[in-house]
Amino acid sequence: MSFFVYRDGTLCAEGVPLPQIAAAHGTPCYVYSRAALLARLEEFRQALAGRDALVCYAVKANSNLAILNLFARAGAGFDIVSGGELARVVAAGGDPSRVVFSGVGKSADEMRQALAMGIFCFNVESAAELERLNDIAGQVVKRASIALRVNPDVDPKTHPYISTGLRGNKFGVAYGEALALYRHARALPHVDIAGIACHIGSQLLDPAPAAEAADKILTLTDRLAAEGIALRHLDLGGGIGIRYRDETPPSVAGYLAPILAKLAGRKEKILFEPGRALVGNAGILLTRIEHLKHGEEKNFAIVDAAMNDLMRPALYDAWHDILPVGQGASDTTEYEVVGPVCESGDFLGHARALAVAEGDLLSIMSAGAYGMAMSSNYNTRPRAAEVIVDGDQAFVVRERETIEQLFAGERVLP
Ligand SMILES: *Cc1c(COP(=O)(O)O)cnc(C)c1O
Repeated sequence: MSFFVYRDGTLCAEGVPLPQIAAAHGTPCYVYSRAALLARLEEFRQALAGRDALVCYAVKANSNLAILNLFARAGAGFDIVSGGELARVVAAGGDPSRVVFSGVGKSADEMRQALAMGIFCFNVESAAELERLNDIAGQVVKRASIALRVNPDVDPKTHPYISTGLRGNKFGVAYGEALALYRHARALPHVDIAGIACHIGSQLLDPAPAAEAADKILTLTDRLAAEGIALRHLDLGGGIGIRYRDETPPSVAGYLAPILAKLAGRKEKILFEPGRALVGNAGILLTRIEHLKHGEEKNFAIVDAAMNDLMRPALYDAWHDILPVGQGASDTTEYEVVGPVCESGDFLGHARALAVAEGDLLSIMSAGAYGMAMSSNYNTRPRAAEVIVDGDQAFVVRERETIEQLFAGERVLP
């Protein structure tokens, strides 16, 4: 079910026509549907009903406080990768005891902060990190709950930039080294071995690699148990894919089914860390056409959103559907949809057939994940506003940045 649909020829977010949002809040503007955000989380809840499970939303996909707050109120936990994200979760009313901390480069300060707040678990990604965490926990007289992030070495068959579970990338501990590192962790006085974690990649459309990873994780878990190292939880990561164009991802229940089948009869708590799956299709980027430019070889629709607002096309050559907000015109022309940023890589879509005129609004679809979160101020462009629609009401959940804010921290030499 989509929460962005045409009504009387105008694209709406739930009950609010997008032109209304553009008029009130300007463009470019991210628009999210509250119902869409909560619908996906509810799918996870239903698929995991009857199990001891925790869904930890991967904050990096979209860290707006209002979204974190909606998820916190719906009972979610959080997967964070920085002290900044932890501060956001707490500011949004999230429960630190439901937070897992991932990432290869946790600083001593971030470890102290997370220990002080009493997070659920550190997903430790190297031997060096384990030593540092043990030291820091000792200094603050705490025991750090840990899981080792193990690299199950399965090919998720996704884009190489977003594949993370193969040998040879920077994430996690090699499968063959995990046992020895767990034995070592057992001997450390300030860590408490709580679980095991893996995350094999992103935008996964087939659950088979994740099920294979789960198998390998279970094999390791059983070997650890045989040595007296009993794990209390299994964190199977995120990565569940969504439809951007013509992909046919399984439903949440369909994706989880083969994984949960492997876990039948297990007593450990199960964690998942979905990011994109919860927010990707719950948001769009609303933009206005500044100019139509008819070149010798190509036609350009130059819009007021750019790669600094939505980097995925430039970064991964990612596809986002681009829909005209008004459905009136019928004569289509093929356009390169590009932004004003001074880079040839600044495009939002290539060769799109659009029936549009200057000043028209376009909706860049499936922009809820890794959109605003990856935005920058390149070309001294203020970041877009963010709006959440709930029924027939629209709420600004982040003001558009001002130019003054962009250089407020800068100083010239005396
Ligand atoms: C990025 C990431 C996720 C979320 O990935 P999605 O593809 O957005 O679901 C989960 N866990 C870890 C460790 C990550 O790095």
